[in-house]
Amino acid sequence: MGILFGKNKKCFNFFGEENLVISAHEIRKKYLEFFQKKGHTIASSDSLVPIDDPTLLFTGAGMNQFKEQFMGKNISYSRATSSQKCLRTGDIENVGKTPRHHTFFEMLGNFSFGDYFKREAINWAWEFLTKEMGISAERLWISVYKDDDEAYSIWNKEIKIPAGRIVRLDADNNFWPADAPLKGPNGPCGPCSEIFYDWGEKYSRAKHSSNPCDPSCDCGRFVEVWNLVFTSFDRKSDGTLVPLPSKNIDTGMGLERITAVLQGVYSNFETDLFVSLVNSVKANLGLAKSLHQYAFSFLSSLFFLVRREI
Ligand SMILES: [Zn+2]
Repeated sequence: MGILFGKNKKCFNFFGEENLVISAHEIRKKYLEFFQKKGHTIASSDSLVPIDDPTLLFTGAGMNQFKEQFMGKNISYSRATSSQKCLRTGDIENVGKTPRHHTFFEMLGNFSFGDYFKREAINWAWEFLTKEMGISAERLWISVYKDDDEAYSIWNKEIKIPAGRIVRLDADNNFWPADAPLKGPNGPCGPCSEIFYDWGEKYSRAKHSSNPCDPSCDCGRFVEVWNLVFTSFDRKSDGTLVPLPSKNIDTGMGLERITAVLQGVYSNFETDLFVSLVNSVKANLGLAKSLHQYAFSFLSSLFFLVRREI
């Protein structure tokens, strides 16, 4: 385990093993409490199958239940936080092959409906990761949308991230939904800024020994842990981006990924969320590593779908 969490705290995982510095359960709790203290209402995880949204088969992001609020409708509170159960089928070919793709996962998020914007979203994300969770600032890299000078300036001038650890990327990386200006879908969208954890050079060495590496590289050295979306536009069918009545914030941090970082394990399947269950699937089904991770991911999706009586 890496020395990443500076508070020297012991806790127990689901199985009573005292081998973790912080459990996933505790990370989730601290996240929701952190944003509650900043004036957010804790919203329950929405149904895995959206009830009033015919455009979606499954809930795949924390913002799905807040689509109307992003359009300026039905706002009973202007700040929300949640831990949303998600099911995504878009990355299905990667499940089992990589250390961090799942069909079922949990997304931590904080949301602003016409309330705070970039400055607060960036400052609070940084405060949570470096102060609450104790992650070393030097391990964190930032990406911003290529034209977003405002976000760049907040990271560089206010948070003091050196220019060498901030990259400007285009719309397929730093717009949400990805490439929305060009390809859609229609609806709320905007530029985003992502926070990456650097696992160190040893993870890039095998793939490119001499080339420089940054968060735009997919060698596995950099892992995106948190996406801060500055939801500012309503995309129309003709591709125009119409400014929304008010600017919004939509963030998403995969609980499995941040847990892996804080527990010092490279694979999500080795976190306290999964390790004992994955080993059980492995022992009982006798499959190769990629297949038991694949089987586990689908079993967890099925479990939550059956619980919803689907
Ligand atoms: Zn690389």
